[in-house]
Order: sequence, then C-alpha cells, then structure tokens
Amino acid sequence: MDFKSILGENCKNGELLKDHTTFHVGGECRFFLTPVTEEQLGLCMDIIRKENYKYYILGKGSNILADDRGYDGVIISTCLLNDSITHEGEYIEAGAGVGLDKISDYAMEQSLSGFEFACGIPGSLGGSIVMNAGAYGGEMSEVLYEVKVLCPDGSIKWKLASDLELSYRKSNILANNEIVLAAKLKLQPGDKEKIRLQIEDLNSRRREKQPLEYPSAGSTFKRPEGYFAGKLIDDAGLRGFRLGGAAVSQKHCGFVINYDNASSDDIKKLIEHVRAKVYEKFGVQLECEVRMI
Ligand SMILES: Cc1cc2nc3c(=O)[nH]c(=O)nc-3n(C[C@H](O)[C@H](O)[C@H](O)COP(=O)(O)OP(=O)(O)OC[C@H]3O[C@@H](n4cnc5c(N)ncnc54)[C@H](O)[C@@H]3O)c2cc1C
Repeated sequence: MDFKSILGENCKNGELLKDHTTFHVGGECRFFLTPVTEEQLGLCMDIIRKENYKYYILGKGSNILADDRGYDGVIISTCLLNDSITHEGEYIEAGAGVGLDKISDYAMEQSLSGFEFACGIPGSLGGSIVMNAGAYGGEMSEVLYEVKVLCPDGSIKWKLASDLELSYRKSNILANNEIVLAAKLKLQPGDKEKIRLQIEDLNSRRREKQPLEYPSAGSTFKRPEGYFAGKLIDDAGLRGFRLGGAAVSQKHCGFVINYDNASSDDIKKLIEHVRAKVYEKFGVQLECEVRMI
C-alpha cells in the first residue's frame, strides 16, 4: 500500500507550500496528502511510521511560515478531514478541517452564542484547538468541550478539553504527537439577531485594524506579559519597516506582512530584527507566535 493507492488525486508530489499558507511563502514538499476520512489518515500514518518519514500536520496554514527550501517529508493537510458540522442542543460537533468562520455562521443559524469571537480567525477547528486561538476576549478553551484525537499508537480517543493543558496560544496536542480529528463545542442559547450583529461588528473591527489586504500569518508575536507587541514595535520606530519583500504593517505593527513577494528568509530576518530592536530598546523578549516549517 502507498499514499496514492489510499488517496488517489489527494496525494501530490512537489506541491508548493506557498499555495497552502496565508503568508503565501514556502517551497516544494515531497508528499502533500489531503485525507478526507479518519481511515485514510490512519492508513497514511501507518506508512509514515513504517517508512520513518518526517511529517507535518497542516490546517489552513494561517499560522505558518514555510521555508522556501521546501520540506523533505510528508505534509498532511487536514483541510478536508471530517468536513461536517452537526449540533445537539447546545453542543456543536465539527471535523478538524472545518473553518472557524463556517462554525460561527452555523452557531448563529442555530441561535447558539459564545463562538462569535472566532468568526474572523482564518483557521481550521483542529489548528485553532492546537493554538488555543483567541480574539476579542474569547478563546477556544472557553468553548471547547471534547476533542477526538488520533494517538501515535493508531488508536482514536475522545479527550476532555481539561486534559489538553490549554493556555495562552498553547496546548499539549503536538507534544503528545496527536492529531485532532474532530471536536465538540459547548455554547449557550442566544438571540440570532444579536449574534449576527456581534459577528458583523467584530469582522468590521478586523477589517479596520488589520492589514487583511496583505498575506500574513496574523499577529506575528505572542503578547508579552504586561505589554502589547504592536505598541512595543511601534515605539521602537519600526512601523512600516521593510526588509526585502517583508514589512512591519503600517496599519498594525503586530503583523509582519508579505508586502511584495517576500522570501521566507526576508520574513525570518525581519522577525529577528524586530525582536532584537524591541529587546534593545525595552528589554522585552518577543516570542514568535507563528510556527515554522
Ligand atoms: C489575518 C489573520 C488573522 C488572524 N487572527 C487571529 C486571531 O485573532 N487570534 C488567533 O489566535 N490567531 C489568529 N490568526 C492565526 C491563525 O489563524 C490561528 O492560529 C489559527 O488557529 C491557526 O489555524 P490553522 O488551521 O490555520 O492552523 P495551521 O496554521 O495550519 O497550524 C497551526 C499549528 O497547528 C497544528 N495543526 C493544525 N491542524 C492540526 C490538527 N488537525 N491536528 C494536530 N495539529 C494540527 C500545526 O501543525 C501547527 O503547529 C490569524 C491569522 C491571520 C492570517
């Protein structure tokens, strides 16, 4: 058995990672797999373990900087994995690959409140659980009830959210070598019109404040305790600072953007420059939120 016989057209060679990341940066990978079912994913993981391939799990690639030199291993895209949403009472269950925007629209249609914060986060459910994504005072940890994971021994388990050690932009899923397959969220009954207005308001605040017209991976740095990364970067004189094709956004200094055909090295060097300047000026160590492939 090989990847092609399991996935057919959903197994590709030489796929460019820049086509699968919101930074629009990244070279070729050896295999690019898009399993649709848990069975397909399980069989692919069996091959990966047997052949000792290195691998990386990709959601919507919205928190990723992929190297232009590419990836000599297997990229598993979860974008099509378990593509369904259902609900029972206040619980919504969705597959790992489903986008947060789709889930927040679905919750609104069911008059379920609590997921509005996530409407503009361009990630998948799986990636957002791994990152414990959050915005506008809300966070995945507050709505997550249970997560279905594929364990490294090939077994499938439902785990309670409290077992994931969720903290600021962190969970223990990657350290445990687990893959998110699906999850159950617990929301509250709400008023559909109020939820709709809240989503509209948050989306317009994003459009106003964030450089959504440029490719990026969102906020490049984690929020340092007691500070705001964007303010520190602005105060260090780096608003609009450019290095090659990468730039600190004029609109929101917390975003490094792909301003004009940036290479992965442009972006990495700019990130390091920003970190060094902020440390030099304020003694604060900025930690990168973006994950590197
Ligand atoms: C314009 C913009 C705005 C953003 N705004 C926000 C925001 O407000 N708040 C916020 O928190 N983030 C924000 N982000 C960052 C990003 O959208 C989130 O981190 C998102 O949750 C990442 O989801 P993803 O599916 O894209 O994951 P990816 O970026 O593909 O992956 C992120 C991590 O999760 C792992 N992973 C992905 N899927 C799985 C899975 N099924 N099982 C196991 N591991 C997996 C990957 O290996 C990687 O380590 C923004 C990004 C952009 C581009």
